[in-house]
Amino acid sequence: MSGTLYIVATPIGNLEDMTYRAVRILTEVDLIAAEDTRHSLKLLNHFNISKSLTSYFDHNQQFKGERILNALRQGKNVALISDAGTPCISDPGYNLVRDAVAAGITVIPIPGACAAIAALAGSGMPSDSFTFAGFPPSRQGKRCSFLTELSALPGTLLLYEAPHRLADTLRDIRQVMGERQVVVARELTKIYEEFIRGTASEVIAAAIDQGRVRGEVVILIAPGELARAVAEPLDGLLRRLLDEEGLSVKDAAKKASLITGTSRSEAYAEALRLTNGVGNE
Ligand code: SAM
Repeated sequence: MSGTLYIVATPIGNLEDMTYRAVRILTEVDLIAAEDTRHSLKLLNHFNISKSLTSYFDHNQQFKGERILNALRQGKNVALISDAGTPCISDPGYNLVRDAVAAGITVIPIPGACAAIAALAGSGMPSDSFTFAGFPPSRQGKRCSFLTELSALPGTLLLYEAPHRLADTLRDIRQVMGERQVVVARELTKIYEEFIRGTASEVIAAAIDQGRVRGEVVILIAPGELARAVAEPLDGLLRRLLDEEGLSVKDAAKKASLITGTSRSEAYAEALRLTNGVGNE
């Protein structure tokens, strides 16, 4: 009979967030697959867990995944952990779980810390509906397209970001999405845990200009007017962009086309019609 694959969450900073169940499962399994074995050894030592470790990270997933599946097929119980938080959430694990499920192996998640969920819970932003989009692309062009696609979604948007890219990403958020409410949740569960809240500009001023960008961060973006505009007919949206935001016909058409998915030429024709053909280019 096959063994069981356990997907075990570990702390994102504060070791007290390790669950009793995680300790028990890690103690009981035959093998632990870890993103970085040296890093995880410290965690395991702290909890007096002495167990065979194997590495499972982005670049050896295919080869290691097959070996882990073989161990499971031979009846071994395996736990997968990542460097911090919940495996599979912007961490390796998805491929292994997918293949284990396809092979008929039982997969059991052992829930625990996850930076995105902790950030959302403490942010004060709407939590009834949210989108977690992982890390934005590192190149600015791709990042802006990525943000544009997400900007029309309803609900709170959650992103992970590396501290050295936080400034650029926050500026792109302001550029693409406007002055929405933003929260930067940094160093969650650690000594310098902090929530920086405000409009995009206020958070940029507080977080970047005052140099508070060290440590790990989650960015949360409140649903904006643009998100609500999706449900608006094209003409209503264009009216707001032209009259309230003061955009030119060309810019309003471009923005409306990005928001609604209408073709640029159709949005342009409609904007021209609304301004009686007097484009204020
Ligand atoms: N699997 C992890 C989880 O469940 O949260 C996420 C791993 S991902 C590789 C690492 C990113 O998560 C960091 O760059 C940061 O955006 C976020 N993160 C992890 N720990 C954090 C913390 N203590 N405070 C704020 N953000 C954190």
